[in-house]
Amino acid sequence: MNLAPETINRRILVVDDNPSIIDDFRKILGTDPNDGGALRHIEESLFGDGVAAETARPVFQIDSACQGQQGLALVEQAQKSHQPYAVAFIDMRMPPGWDGVETIAHIWQKDPRLQIVVCTAYSDYSWKEMSDRLDLGDRLLILKKPFDNIEAYQLACALSVKWELTQQAELKMGRLEDAVRVRTSALSRANEALQGEIAERKLLQQQLAQLSVTDALTGLANRRRFDDTLAAEWARAQRTARPIGLVMIDIDHFKPYNDHYGHIGGDACLRRVATELAGVTRGDTDLVARYGGEEFAIILPDADCAAACAVAERACAAIAALQEPHAAAAGGIVTISAGIASLAPSAETPAERLIEFADSALYEAKRAGRNRVRSWPFAAAAVGAHLNRGR
Ligand SMILES: [Mg+2]
Repeated sequence: MNLAPETINRRILVVDDNPSIIDDFRKILGTDPNDGGALRHIEESLFGDGVAAETARPVFQIDSACQGQQGLALVEQAQKSHQPYAVAFIDMRMPPGWDGVETIAHIWQKDPRLQIVVCTAYSDYSWKEMSDRLDLGDRLLILKKPFDNIEAYQLACALSVKWELTQQAELKMGRLEDAVRVRTSALSRANEALQGEIAERKLLQQQLAQLSVTDALTGLANRRRFDDTLAAEWARAQRTARPIGLVMIDIDHFKPYNDHYGHIGGDACLRRVATELAGVTRGDTDLVARYGGEEFAIILPDADCAAACAVAERACAAIAALQEPHAAAAGGIVTISAGIASLAPSAETPAERLIEFADSALYEAKRAGRNRVRSWPFAAAAVGAHLNRGR
């Protein structure tokens, strides 16, 4: 990281109970107008003749205090005016007030970033004792008295640069953290949007899947779902040896109805019948489907012949109760015929057998005068007779 010399904070605080030491610092750091040669002498001893004159030297601004409390007041004032000190040289022994360690403890409470050099002629505290009393971090150096001028000068230079680098690193870290926060927040929002999109797509897929097995006109299950459900229930019945019932339904004289009322009237009739059929079943377990044209079917898992018959009777009664006018029917209203079959299938019996038997029963219901229910087996002679029927 490159630093422009003019941007470096060169504010120095010296706290010492001996005024001559404070004067020494002013001479060493080159701010005493009466002793401009002191610094040059130092530079020449460091770099040799001629080099020092060409070298841009730092301009330190020095404040001083002769007691710890005064030093603390200066630190507080500097903080308030947003012109903090970069480095403080603090004497260890300053009777009658605070000693160096106590002064440093107070000052760091106000300005924890201040780089401090503690100046001491004696071993008042071991490093461990100071470490126990102060949170040292990397902010404290010890300068033994009597100190070397060059050493003090180098400390002021190096620590003021260190203070500046630390500030800039903190600023940079703060900006990085802000950038991470902004990015994290943006990612979080994008993730939420994505989750919403996924949920929406899932819902659409469910709706599509539902539509693909739904009859568009009546809203009942379509033929595809009927086939799938019958296959699944048939396999279950084979495993459990439980019966499965099927009701095949046909609207009586539907062709003449369509001829008389038109296809729009016919569609409305199909919808009304579908609604009634859905109302006579056992909720979740049964499946009402539009089998094709004016034919409907109800799959009744676990239903024996009597239970299936009861459902079919309710269906017939419900449609008749609609009193839906049918000008082309003898009774003057829309009715249905229903054929039922119930089997506890063996492993070898195909599901088509159930449809075939229920269909035979339906044919028998029609043959017997319509608007009624017939169940298989009704009479041995009737089985198979439906194959060539024209209903
Ligand atoms: Mg002293």
